[in-house]
Amino acid sequence: MPKIDYLRISLIDKCNFRCQYCMPEGTKFDYVLNHELLTNQEIVTLVRQVFIPLGFTKFRLTGGEPLLRPGLVDLVKDIAQLPETEDLALTTNAFLLKDLAQPLYNAGLRRINISLDSLNPKTFDRITGNHGRSRWQQTWEGIQTAHQVGFNPLKLNVVVIPGLNDTEVLDLAELSIKRQWHVRFIEFMPIGNPELFGDKAWIDSAELRHQIRRKWGLMESNIKGNGPADVFQIPGAQGTLGFISQMSECFCDRCNRVRLSADGWLRPCLLNETGQIDLKTALRSSVDLAELQTQISQLLLLKPEINFKERDSGTDGKYTRTMSQIGG
Ligand code: SAM
Ligand code: SF4
Repeated sequence: MPKIDYLRISLIDKCNFRCQYCMPEGTKFDYVLNHELLTNQEIVTLVRQVFIPLGFTKFRLTGGEPLLRPGLVDLVKDIAQLPETEDLALTTNAFLLKDLAQPLYNAGLRRINISLDSLNPKTFDRITGNHGRSRWQQTWEGIQTAHQVGFNPLKLNVVVIPGLNDTEVLDLAELSIKRQWHVRFIEFMPIGNPELFGDKAWIDSAELRHQIRRKWGLMESNIKGNGPADVFQIPGAQGTLGFISQMSECFCDRCNRVRLSADGWLRPCLLNETGQIDLKTALRSSVDLAELQTQISQLLLLKPEINFKERDSGTDGKYTRTMSQIGG
């Protein structure tokens, strides 16, 4: 079992996109009310006085769309400057990144993951649920700005959906050749909207690798990340290709992370609907932080028992929360 030292912090459950696989249009979401969101101060208290003493050193800010969160730059600064923070990263859809990339970099952020499911503006708008003026160009400019500002590694996340963007796998993989960009293909997980894409909504990573290998060749990379991706490289490419294959190859035994939702629930696993700790209520009722550490240590012990095969679907037998609500 790996050391559990990585906390993903969801800053907000709202989003300015409606990706079909995450927050599909027409689905009603009960958003967390503003006063239920953890404040910046509460997040920093948890990081500094609860998680760091438990050995956590890696933090990722996510959502929903974290760039929508007021006070994001200050929060980045507060976490980045803690001496124990070895790694701080952000996951975003990049729509608002053009203006925020430099302030975030100045605040100490160095690593960024950006979702980009298509290079074709029409397909992009279809996937992200956009009907007005295309949002692709502004997203692309956000990515370019992040590159120019110096974010490294810059990772691009692609969820490959049959019939939507599967014909673009080679075009997206090609982005890793000339720039030091790391493209990561993620198998769709039937979370939140299990019926959305029918029985088999993902394409096995092995099949994607096969396509890429046929065109350029593919070798295992010695650049490895913190997470569950299997990392490869097109020979001679500057960047890498990662494959996150939670559907075709269970990697729960390698998982080193826990997740904190925007309203302060700590969950040991993406798939776990029970066994969570309500850290917001604990903080607001002045529970002793040492007591919280004890509760969290016990929760971490539970983690290895939960995996995709023996998943806990909660009391009503359904995954009611989407990635945007849990914090992807
Ligand atoms: N809004 C930001 C973004 O899209 O990058 C951050 C939050 S989003 C929930 C984080 C990641 O989760 C994205 O890369 C997205 O593609 C991925 N994601 C969302 N729903 C998913 C699903 N059902 N299966 C696999 N990945 C999913
Ligand atoms: Fe928003 Fe990210 Fe979910 Fe897309 S994947 S709807 S950008 S939270």
